Amino acid sequence: MPKNYMEVLVDSMLPPLVRSHEHLKDCLRCQEDIRAIALNQLQPLYMVSDKGRIYAKLKEFDHQFQSDIIQALSRAMAVVEDNPHHEEPSF
Ligand SMILES: [Zn+2]
Repeated sequence: MPKNYMEVLVDSMLPPLVRSHEHLKDCLRCQEDIRAIALNQLQPLYMVSDKGRIYAKLKEFDHQFQSDIIQALSRAMAVVEDNPHHEEPSF
């Protein structure tokens, strides 16, 4: 099964970004919302082989690529902070 490495990158970049946010850092529900919003904005990065894994790893260190992800996550964080969904019943 191909794997979306964008999810891996988002997962690795989200924790340091929410660390300074009083509510978001402890709320997994909001963090899931942030992931979903950011991943909808970012291009999927599907990889199958080990070669793909290396490619994704290299991308991880590309500055522009990284700042695109941070930008998408920051936007998503602002959206979730303005409209927290965690008071609604979870499903
Ligand atoms: Zn929350």
